This record gives sequence, structure tokens and C-alpha cells, in this order.
Amino acid sequence: MQQHNTLPIEIKPVKSSNIDQVDFDNLSFGNVFTDHMLTCDYVDGKWQNPVIEPYGTITISPGARVLHYGQAIFEGMKAYRDEQDDIWLFRPEENFLRFNKSSVRLAIPEVPREVFFEGLLALLNLDKNWCPKDYGDSLYIRPFVFGSQVGVSAAPSSSYKFMILLCPVKAYYKGDIKVLVAEHYSRAANGGVGAAKAAGNYGAQFYPTNLAKESGYDQIIWTDDCSHHYLEEAGTMNVFFRINDTLITAPTSDRILDGVTRKSVIALAQRDGLPVEVRKITVSELIDAAKNKSLKEIFGAGTAAVISPVSGFGYKNEYYDLPKVEDSYAKRMKKSLLDIQHNKAEDTFGWTLKV
Ligand SMILES: *Cc1c(COP(=O)(O)O)cnc(C)c1O
Repeated sequence: MQQHNTLPIEIKPVKSSNIDQVDFDNLSFGNVFTDHMLTCDYVDGKWQNPVIEPYGTITISPGARVLHYGQAIFEGMKAYRDEQDDIWLFRPEENFLRFNKSSVRLAIPEVPREVFFEGLLALLNLDKNWCPKDYGDSLYIRPFVFGSQVGVSAAPSSSYKFMILLCPVKAYYKGDIKVLVAEHYSRAANGGVGAAKAAGNYGAQFYPTNLAKESGYDQIIWTDDCSHHYLEEAGTMNVFFRINDTLITAPTSDRILDGVTRKSVIALAQRDGLPVEVRKITVSELIDAAKNKSLKEIFGAGTAAVISPVSGFGYKNEYYDLPKVEDSYAKRMKKSLLDIQHNKAEDTFGWTLKV
């Protein structure tokens, strides 16, 4: 992408890169950061100019609002390297729009487009040699913003910090996962913050997910908070069900995050002529389909893992094993997405953006 800089971005480069100290074959997700990070402060009612500086600790007052009231949201996106060593972003506009949508919900001021995109591109240009090349590997991009004002009165912060971090990551695959259908706990509620990428949504999920892990599951399939009859998300991913040959996923709502991977899977399925239905699906429909063997697949969809196949699910002390499907939709969708992301397949949708 041609960069038209309209913003002065102060760049303080590292004296020497840390890249040689990183074992790129053994990266664990999100633990290694590139040389630089971007910071942009909101003070006196406006966003200041972004600064790119060496990655490192920041100081924060123990009275900072975010530590008390959780005013924080984030995004997750990826950059991929192609055979010609060009770097590509995947649908970054979607992440930018969702970033600000999440911010609005948490009463955080929206980040201007130039700060987000010019900042991100300048940071990527500086650290692009950190982007791994192997198929499925990527540079994970973590933009986030939090309330930094000091003072523990319960009100929105008057100052904020917007930051972007970059992490080289391996293709994420931990084997097929077992999921437990939620009967008591909820991830989100009508009128709540489930549709925002609010930091606290994740904090609230850890305890019930730990309980599920103690019972031998990897993740929870979240159901609606009111009746627990409707299947909504899998862990921190959107969820798809394949019944016979039809792919089904719930419509987005206050309780369901509008995932970029989800909407890309729907578009790819439609392009390929696969039957796809965006509609509510109930636990009892799932159990019936598992019993009569029309349930072929369940998979999660999200940026981190791209597609996460499910091997079976639990509900009310019963475990339902899923069949091993040759040529699964999960595999097919993952390949279609990664091929476009790595610029190996023609991007007929105009989803990718060259850095
Ligand atoms: C981030 C997220 C997703 C996946 O969204 P993508 O844009 O595909 O990464 C799904 N559900 C929840 C709750 C999320 O936070």
C-alpha cells in the first residue's frame, strides 16, 4: 500500500535488533515481541502524535483507571509473508472499524484512521523482517487501548493510551479440541459487552473455562445467557456446525462477536457453492444431529487459530464424539483462507492489503 503520511510519527529505533536472540522454530503464541512498539496518547481531549520506540516496559500509576474499572479493548490481526517476501494484511479495515466500535461501547474515544493505519504501517515497515515465512506462520498484531487517568473515582478516564505490539507466531494447532456446552455460565448478555473485544470479556471467561478443563475439555461452547438453549461461540472463537453438508453459524448479536474469520468463512462457502445458513441453532438440534449421525463437524473460527476443529462435545454428563471426516470443511476453509492470506490464491474478494 502506498503510504501517504499525514501524521508526523516520531520513530526512535533500537540500537541493535533482538531478532538474532529469537528461536523462530519454537515460538509459543504471543510471548515474543518485535523490536518496536507504537504508543499514542489521548490527553486534553485529543489524540497526540504516535511514537514508535523500542519494545519495553511502560510505567503506569497504580491509580490508573484501567486497573480498577477495566476500561480496555483490543484487536487481533495478522500479517503474512508471501513467496516474493511481500507482507500482506488480511481485511485490516474490519479490525479498525471493530476497534472503534468496541471503544464506543466502553466509552473510550475512537482512534483516528490515520493513527491506526499510518502507525501500523510504519511499525510493520520497521519490523517486517520479524514476519515469519512458513505457511500458516505470521506476525500477530495486537492493537489495544486503555484508560490511563489516575484516580479511582468510578468514571470514564480522561486520558488513554493506544498501543500496537507485534508478535511473530507459528501456525497455531493444538490438535482437535473437545468442547463443553455451557449450562450455567455465560460469556455475554443482551445489552452487554459481548459484541465488543473488551478485555474483561476474556477475564470473565477464565474461571468457567478452567472448570471445563478440570472435566477434560479444552473450551466451552457458549450458549445464550437467558435459556442456555442457543449455541453461540466456542471459547473466544465464532463457531460453525456442519449438519449433513450444510454449514450453520449463529447470527451476530449483542452476545456474539462479529468475527472477521467468521464472515470470511461464510463468504468462501457461498463462493464455493456450499450450503450455508446463518441462523440460530439450538442445543437440542445439535444433540439430535449427533445422535442420528447427521452432525459431521464443529469448528471454531478466529484469527489466532484460523480454524479449530472440534473432536467432540459434552452436554449434561454425556459425551458426543464426532466422526472423522475426510475432506472436512474445516480443512478446506483453513486452506482457502491461508492461501489467500499468503497470496498463494487469487484474492477475488479484495481482502488483502500489501504492506
Ligand atoms: C476475536 C473474537 C472472535 C474472532 O474474531 P476474528 O475477527 O475472526 O479474529 C470471536 N469471538 C470472540 C469472543 C472474540 O473475541
